[in-house]
Amino acid sequence: MITPTALFAFDTLLTEEEREIRNTVRRVCDREIRPHVAEWFETGELPARELARTLGSLGVLGMHLEGYGCAGMGAVSYGLACLELEAADSGLRSLVSVQGSLAMYAIWKYGSEEQKQEWLPAMAAGERIGCFGLTEPDFGSDPAGMRTTAKREGGDWVLNGTKMWITNGSVSDVAVVWARTDKGVRGFLVPAGTPGFTVNDVKHKISLRASVTSELVLDGVRLPDTALLPGARGLSGPLGCLNEARFGIVFGAMGAALDCLETAIAYAGDREVFAKPLASFQLTQEKLADMALELGKGLLLAVHLGRLKEAGTITPEQVSAGKLNNVREALEIARKCRTLLGASGITLEYPVIRHSVNLESVLTYEGTSEIHSLVLGKALTGIAAFH
Ligand SMILES: Cc1cc2nc3c(=O)[nH]c(=O)nc-3n(C[C@H](O)[C@H](O)[C@H](O)COP(=O)(O)OP(=O)(O)OC[C@H]3O[C@@H](n4cnc5c(N)ncnc54)[C@H](O)[C@@H]3O)c2cc1C
Repeated sequence: MITPTALFAFDTLLTEEEREIRNTVRRVCDREIRPHVAEWFETGELPARELARTLGSLGVLGMHLEGYGCAGMGAVSYGLACLELEAADSGLRSLVSVQGSLAMYAIWKYGSEEQKQEWLPAMAAGERIGCFGLTEPDFGSDPAGMRTTAKREGGDWVLNGTKMWITNGSVSDVAVVWARTDKGVRGFLVPAGTPGFTVNDVKHKISLRASVTSELVLDGVRLPDTALLPGARGLSGPLGCLNEARFGIVFGAMGAALDCLETAIAYAGDREVFAKPLASFQLTQEKLADMALELGKGLLLAVHLGRLKEAGTITPEQVSAGKLNNVREALEIARKCRTLLGASGITLEYPVIRHSVNLESVLTYEGTSEIHSLVLGKALTGIAAFH
């Protein structure tokens, strides 16, 4: 027998340091996350503060950023950490993506030196949590339509508007909020507890239940000029952050798929149907072979994109291609694995249905599959079909 990753000699594409990082993250997930994650999912309650500190000491928060207490790791190492985290649960990887690639990256890339010093070391350590508010109730795929405004009043800024579906919202110490000014979209750091800033959790989710999702309400929130991110002007600011987080999803989605496939292979070996192991039937083997192929191709694509990112040549279209393919295929793998588990596949005793419903959110956030198809369509034809 050979594992799905060994079939593609996946480890030969990685350096010794990358394998070591992957193994360390896996060990911590096995010890600290896997024993509890189904319960967090079932109750919809996540010990986010405690988890953030665990992830901070593991060094995965902002691990691809340089300086300010961040680990300064390569793109493939970061991707492998996302893979292992998402093999445990997409909600956990979402916490890390939003903290490191959206909130910390926005401050790291566009912030003043004072903002970096104030927030980044504590966020890298997991002592402070951040969120990223771009989406609004009426504007998700088309953030250019945002209604949240930031107006100058004396030397201050006053923000009004509502952000929706914000990961980490109610557990955050700081929200990176994107708002329309008379000079285009700008980013602001809104500390928790600022008067006029309230946060309400989204209830009744049946996907990403081991993740905090919130609404941010800004009602006359007054901020000093030092809250403005000086380096971001226009929508390219938030879109640059999203590109970072999407890259992590290219690897992460394959982690969820791998966990499903390994579970299904083990189950099919143990489960007897018609007096023989389920794994011995040709229909089962075809399913497993097809899934291993898509998993292998997705992993190869992820490492290829990681090497392009490390070389500094990756384009947003290539990240879109990776996100579109790998999330779509991961979801298909999760659904197919679920069929192999029969009725057992619908319980939280196995991780498969949890991954499957989680991946429905991953398909939608960080650009829906339709939007990434349109990005690729534009790249291939030169014609934008968004409007
Ligand atoms: C669990 C979760 C966590 C999230 N976390 C965050 C976060 O931390 N920060 C944040 O800012 N946002 C976050 N989001 C929001 C997410 O980014 C948006 O949901 C996403 O961008 C889609 O926007 P929407 O839900 O408004 O859908 P819509 O934009 O209304 O889209 C509805 C449907 O229309 C399709 N569609 C849209 N435009 C076109 C078009 N031109 N052609 C064809 N089809 C089109 C879409 O693909 C989709 O299928 C999160 C979402 C979820 C579910």
